[in-house]
Amino acid sequence: MKKITSVCPYCGAGCKLKLVVDNGKIIRAEAADGHTNQNELCLKGYYGWDFLNDTKLLTPRLTQPMIRYEKGGKFTPVSWDEAIRYTAKRLGEIKAKFGPRAIMTTGSSRGTGNETNYVMQKFARGVLNTNNVDCCARVCHGPSVAGLQETLGNGAMSNSIGDIENSSCLLVFGYNCADSHPIVARRVIKAKQKGAKIIVCDPRRIETARIADQHLQLNNGCNMALVNAFGHVLLEEELYDKDYVASFTTGLEAYRETVKEYAPEAVEHLTGVPAKQVRQAMRTYAAAPSATIMWGMGVTQFGQAVDVVKGLSSLALLTGNLGREHVGVGPVRGQNNVQGACDMGVIPNQFPGYQDVVNPQVRAKFANAWGIDPAVMDDKVGVRITEVPHLALEGKVKAYYIMGEDPLQTEADLGLVRKGFEALDFVVVQDIFMTKTAEQADVLLPATSWGEHGGVFTCADRGFQRFEKAIEPMYNVKRDWEIISLIATEMGYPMHYDNNQQIWDELRELCPLFYGVTYEKMGDMGHVQWPCPTLDHPGTPYLYQNNKFDTPDGKGHLFAAQWRAPAERPDDAFPLVLCTVREVGHYSCRSMTGNCAALQTLADEPGFVQINPQDAQALGIKDRQLVWVESRRGKVITRADVSERVNHGSVYMTYQWWIGACNELTQDNLDPISKTPETKYCAVRVSAI
Ligand code: SF4
Repeated sequence: MKKITSVCPYCGAGCKLKLVVDNGKIIRAEAADGHTNQNELCLKGYYGWDFLNDTKLLTPRLTQPMIRYEKGGKFTPVSWDEAIRYTAKRLGEIKAKFGPRAIMTTGSSRGTGNETNYVMQKFARGVLNTNNVDCCARVCHGPSVAGLQETLGNGAMSNSIGDIENSSCLLVFGYNCADSHPIVARRVIKAKQKGAKIIVCDPRRIETARIADQHLQLNNGCNMALVNAFGHVLLEEELYDKDYVASFTTGLEAYRETVKEYAPEAVEHLTGVPAKQVRQAMRTYAAAPSATIMWGMGVTQFGQAVDVVKGLSSLALLTGNLGREHVGVGPVRGQNNVQGACDMGVIPNQFPGYQDVVNPQVRAKFANAWGIDPAVMDDKVGVRITEVPHLALEGKVKAYYIMGEDPLQTEADLGLVRKGFEALDFVVVQDIFMTKTAEQADVLLPATSWGEHGGVFTCADRGFQRFEKAIEPMYNVKRDWEIISLIATEMGYPMHYDNNQQIWDELRELCPLFYGVTYEKMGDMGHVQWPCPTLDHPGTPYLYQNNKFDTPDGKGHLFAAQWRAPAERPDDAFPLVLCTVREVGHYSCRSMTGNCAALQTLADEPGFVQINPQDAQALGIKDRQLVWVESRRGKVITRADVSERVNHGSVYMTYQWWIGACNELTQDNLDPISKTPETKYCAVRVSAI
């Protein structure tokens, strides 16, 4: 029996664990003393591994390469040589005929690791010569990255998960940590036990609201109005830190001009939050010796998400809650390696280490290191994954190489996404399961899973952590970066790596932010937070030390914007607002957790729609009754969960189920900057069956 050090493959909390292996099989997971989890795990950490041992899964593992030679035909099992040859040939033909930008690629925010994401973006930029590479950050925390880069200079959490419990005030905004990051929720509870004030802003009575000092139950779709009201109170009641603002920020007068119309009393009808509560919340936040703002997809999955992120970070700037211990801003990233996927440049605007693709010196640096002509590199920002359906229908994107993502379940308005897929000439899916997207592929490339390979993940607080291979795969599968390298080589660019560390050392050399993060420094249980620019640098637990921001002028930029209504408002035909949420036992598209026996038992049937008792009674709907939920785009069947936890006029569904998939209903109104869809708000009707 042996114990292998790993990192949980589910959420961005980055919990360290030990996989106990006996006779080539994992038999259990044990909590380890990781930086973020301190010997604790949630259900997914303890029980989320048994799909690795099981050959009778709900969703089958991909066990060998397959090709569908004709549209509408059947998959044919093929050798690896044939799969690589055919993929390289088809991608080469499409590149030659339609140009590099006709091909879209994705990295993966899941268990494949940073090394693979680096290799995928190298393939896109260096071999296909396109910046069309993206990941699921686009549909979750893309607005956090875009917003924070503008106000503070860095798109990541400014603080550390381990330090959350030391803050004396937590403002938890649109973030259901108990369900999405249970171990981060433990930090919130510990903060409360140490005497911190907890303020929760959420339309639902989420678990964290039960321990909060204040729960501001705002109306859906009014985040910007409430954040502006917070700013209004800080200025009007002179609760802000005048010296800090004068010394370290810019933009106060424009900010004041915008928020002056947002007195809490004036916007009470809009936010639904009594003005007294808004004022009390800001008095508490501003008076705290140290305060932290945390947010989740209740902020980012709206058409005005980037503005709200900038507004929230402005509250921290106004009160001087940045640049020291126990304070900061924390967009808590969703999937376990979504921070890493962005770090590694599987985003269409930046190379690894957040180096801009439009900068010719940066392009030349990467081209020289990769041994290619800088002139062939794409000098424009590439396509985002949420733009692919539209561009496919316009004939501008012809091929899609998808690694470890499942857009046919996780993207908004699935009817539109399906139409986009039908318009594509060639789809390659590299994955571990026969997902909804894999079912539509022309080529299936089966990859090793977390547990079957090692590498480096980045957790939500910028911490790089190593994980090790625990078992040998049972099937004819290859590592993701090996598959990509073989295709690159077949396309005429020789690419070969012997192991993860070779790739890691190559990317370190190209990324000043990460240069000092060696394999040795991460060690077995290490957690090294970027920036880490030199070999003797210990890593950076909190950003903006000495209040020097990473913006071009070194200042924090205050920002407020007028509130904009969500795109699709309820009306007589569709009178309720649908908001998508998470459930604690499953993760993302559920392909991994849905194939773990212990986690399957948490729910005995797919999905639910949470509805307020008042709305349920008006519609003649009883608890646990089967209902239709319908929007302008689709109709699904699910079961009613009549609950006092949800507000009147709104209903809530999780997106983790294939049956009753809420993305049949959602709409793709995109934030104009981040291109993130407004999956937290669309109009629906619910009817009894
Ligand atoms: Fe930790 Fe998240 Fe894994 Fe739970 S799902 S054990 S909170 S990393």
